[in-house]
Amino acid sequence: MTVSTGRHFLQIPGPTNVPDPVLRAMSAPTIDHRGPGFAALTRRLLDALGPVFGTSDPVVIYPSSGTGAWEAALVNTLSPGDRVLCFETGHFATLWQEMARGLGLEVDFVPGDWRHGVDPAAVEGRLSADLAHSVKAVCVVHNETSTGVTSRVADVRRAIDAAGHPALLLVDTISSLGSIDYRHDEWGVDVTVAGSQKGLMLPPGLSFNAVSAKALRAARTSALPKSFWDWHPVIAANERGFFPYTPATNLLYGLEEALRMLQAEGLPQVFARHARHAAATRAAVRAWGLDVLCADEREHSGSLTAVLMPDGHDADTVRKVILERFDMSLGAGLGKLSGRVFRIGHLGHFNDLALAGTLAGVQMGLELAGVPVDPAGLTTALDVLRSA
Ligand SMILES: *Cc1c(COP(=O)(O)O)cnc(C)c1O
Repeated sequence: MTVSTGRHFLQIPGPTNVPDPVLRAMSAPTIDHRGPGFAALTRRLLDALGPVFGTSDPVVIYPSSGTGAWEAALVNTLSPGDRVLCFETGHFATLWQEMARGLGLEVDFVPGDWRHGVDPAAVEGRLSADLAHSVKAVCVVHNETSTGVTSRVADVRRAIDAAGHPALLLVDTISSLGSIDYRHDEWGVDVTVAGSQKGLMLPPGLSFNAVSAKALRAARTSALPKSFWDWHPVIAANERGFFPYTPATNLLYGLEEALRMLQAEGLPQVFARHARHAAATRAAVRAWGLDVLCADEREHSGSLTAVLMPDGHDADTVRKVILERFDMSLGAGLGKLSGRVFRIGHLGHFNDLALAGTLAGVQMGLELAGVPVDPAGLTTALDVLRSA
């Protein structure tokens, strides 16, 4: 057994570090979820959640991981055999379309190289060609957590409109909400899927669907089987401040505190902080002489950076050295990127010195693993942090 001193560095792109005030909020005694105190909590939460999604639409909260909210978005809006348009931006987009197939949907999966976001021109091209309007939904992962590439959702919306197509727009913001600028209403998103354990700074266990009026209309005729994920009983019970089943009471205490923290910092400041930490991280990676996986300057993620390993070096070896020597966890390469990249999470409860420590650990780990890097990487990042 190695004894660890000080805090573990949890620099995976989710779950992220949970702030102490959130942990303390969650340690309060569990209350009666059918009592008046709980109803007041639900109302406060639903009021505070809207601004984070950029919406005045209803937000449904589930006691589940983000995957549950993916399923909820599909089963509430679609019917067996419906066509959906998905884009191979990375591992999570691949898993979501596999789920759609498993649920009995017809998926058009547009291939991608895992280094770019959704191409708005491809959206427009596919939808313009669909004269019969057989595509019922477009699914986009806003921030591909496997690649560190952020898709331009506003441009995807414009592409759907330019094609004059009525498909629903379903967007996964599990690793972007509360970290990267996002606007459910302004961008005309129909279902926004989110989770608790990334930008929202909570432990895993809550997920969300923000639901447009158009999505609610689609839900009235959608024929995919659903029970637990059905929006209607949740929205109806929420009107009175309750849930149709036992909610995750203590996570909801934490959510109230996390939303308070985001509001106190101010969302524009939160997004700017993430963008700045991402820029400092890219500066380090490039000064080391390594490549960032994201290949489009417009699409760098504010939440995480995926670092490509030079040929002949294994990313998992580097991660192992860093965990053993410096007690820091980094994200592994997922799916076809296994061993080829490691991912540095810089989202959620995070600051300049935490990033400096993270990059110092990465640099030392690369050196110990025998990866040739220029040690100017770290000081280059510090220059960015100092000057901003
Ligand atoms: C983490 C993540 C998921 C999966 O969420 P779980 O909470 O693990 O079910 C899906 N999509 C994206 C973009 C993610 O980052």
